[in-house]
Amino acid sequence: MQQQPNVDLSTSTAYTCDNCEHDTFKTVFKLRTVSAIASPSGEEMLVPIQAFACVHCGHINKEFLPKDLPDNEDDGFSDGVGDGILLG
Ligand SMILES: [Zn+2]
Repeated sequence: MQQQPNVDLSTSTAYTCDNCEHDTFKTVFKLRTVSAIASPSGEEMLVPIQAFACVHCGHINKEFLPKDLPDNEDDGFSDGVGDGILLG
């Protein structure tokens, strides 16, 4: 984990889940598969996307996810999101 910047927490406000307003989160990863055609390596790969999920309901606020992440599967994926893992 990176060290927290030295900020005055008295000026902060609670960050809450958009779904249930719970205020604790856990680190989760979404995984995207990238087809060989779209992959920079030319091979199918898995791309992890780190996000924070609400501990209470599991919701992931949308600001944790890339704006270009499609809601539906199989819609390709833009680069710039971490290092991929080659499959097989
Ligand atoms: Zn929630």
